[in-house]
Amino acid sequence: MLRVAVIGSTNLDFTVAVPHLPRVGETVSGGTLAISPGGKGANQAVAARRLGADVRFVTLLGVDAMGDRLAESLAAEGLPVDLVLRTEAAATGVALIALDPDGRNQITVAPGANHCLTIGQVASHADVIEWADVVLLQLETPIETVRWVLQEARRRGKTTILNPAPARVLPLPPDLLTLVDYLTPNEIEAGLLTGRDIDGPTAAAAAGETLVAAGVGNVAVTVGAGGALCVGGGRCIRVAGFPVLAVDTVGAGDAFNGALATLLAAGASIEDALLVANAAGGLACTRRGAVEALPRREEVTGLLQREGRWPTTGW
Ligand code: ADP
Repeated sequence: MLRVAVIGSTNLDFTVAVPHLPRVGETVSGGTLAISPGGKGANQAVAARRLGADVRFVTLLGVDAMGDRLAESLAAEGLPVDLVLRTEAAATGVALIALDPDGRNQITVAPGANHCLTIGQVASHADVIEWADVVLLQLETPIETVRWVLQEARRRGKTTILNPAPARVLPLPPDLLTLVDYLTPNEIEAGLLTGRDIDGPTAAAAAGETLVAAGVGNVAVTVGAGGALCVGGGRCIRVAGFPVLAVDTVGAGDAFNGALATLLAAGASIEDALLVANAAGGLACTRRGAVEALPRREEVTGLLQREGRWPTTGW
């Protein structure tokens, strides 16, 4: 069994496809609404689950109809219901997304319950950390809670992955960086975390080295269609992306992180983990939406086979 624990956010995404994005004060009508589960924690948990990992996902929803709807969706994906916590203190997290015909978006988020996830609530489910091989976190829940989980995971000898998205806590506290085995920024986040302009793989690798010098174990920077590179342990590994017909890159990073966690739980080499994560990320770009676009195991193995790039370890 590949045991992945995810502690993070869940949102209900309200996406309106509009003829054009509104300017300040403008009302744009004529759109169509799609309502779907979202939030980086939920997306990454579902991504790992669809790739065959046994996933335990700790998240906090409000006591409202949106929370009920999300709890049902998470259960339908095979995630344990007892770890979907509820609070009276805030509404379920919501993202309001306007999407234009070119795929450009404007997003506003009301984090609600996600920002109420306390150390105490996670601590009452600390057995999830003990159970896991790999613990995966993002930055849509309070930083103190993220730090506590990282500390507990490290103390218990677990592999930790922190996806520093969205890059809202800048710079990341130095003590937090030392608790991370794999940090997974995209180029923009790598730039924000290091105060550099990232304009290609060389700059991405340099940012990775800066973060390793600050105490991170390994830094896997995702570079869009170019794939990903990983700096750590005195070496830099680059793994090319997959040629896909990209229609919407939303969810690519979440698919990548879910896959990386799954492959590391399977004991794969970092080369093979990046290979499969790139395949999952690439496939997520071939469909619109976030959760809807996350690939299943058979799709990933199909792409790997078609491209003649098969992992030799793990999975
Ligand atoms: P984010 O979605 O967080 O902005 P990236 O754009 O770097 O992050 O994408 C994450 C991963 O998804 C990449 O490392 C790559 O494996 C895959 N990916 C993203 N865009 C493409 C693309 N256009 N073609 C192929 N793979 C892609």
